[in-house]
Amino acid sequence: MSDHAQTIHGEVLKANGDYVQGFGDKKDLALPPARRFAILTCMDARLDPAKYAGLSEGDAHVIRNAGGRASDDAIRSLVISHKLLGTAVWFVVHHTDCGMQLFTDEVMGDLLADNLETATFDGATWSNPKHGGGSPAGRYVKWLTIGDQDASVVDDVRRIRSHPLVPRHIPIFGFVYDVRSGRLVEVPEATRAGAAS
Ligand SMILES: [Zn+2]
Repeated sequence: MSDHAQTIHGEVLKANGDYVQGFGDKKDLALPPARRFAILTCMDARLDPAKYAGLSEGDAHVIRNAGGRASDDAIRSLVISHKLLGTAVWFVVHHTDCGMQLFTDEVMGDLLADNLETATFDGATWSNPKHGGGSPAGRYVKWLTIGDQDASVVDDVRRIRSHPLVPRHIPIFGFVYDVRSGRLVEVPEATRAGAAS
């Protein structure tokens, strides 16, 4: 194991030990989310939905992926969230300064075709510090990059709203989280598109 892996492994287990000490009543939490709602949001490390939306364990479903995009798998989770676990209000939350705005499918495909190690970004262009050993498999993936945050929220709310397995009575709200202030800014066009009927 690398030094980094060993350090992180130890830190996570130490933190978990502390968490278990204070676990207490959480052993009695029910499986279905008590507040019956779900949030689809980006995996960005600066976003903590439990904090920005005031969640405690047992409150809500949080579905995360790169960009908080309404991918087939995100919709799979949302459908389970409602159909089997009773959530009845959904939020789609993208955010400012999202990494998904910094590349295109073509750029990602080219980078991966060359080399699999972490690329560097100079503020304008991505490049590989090492070369060789890449795979063209990245050219076959739709990475769901983002051009404009408001537009991506509207697109995703529309995609969820029009999905045949999503009932019309679930309201879907669209937001952009501002990473500079922590504020959730509603995207009116998305919320309109996601209105229940
Ligand atoms: Zn992001």
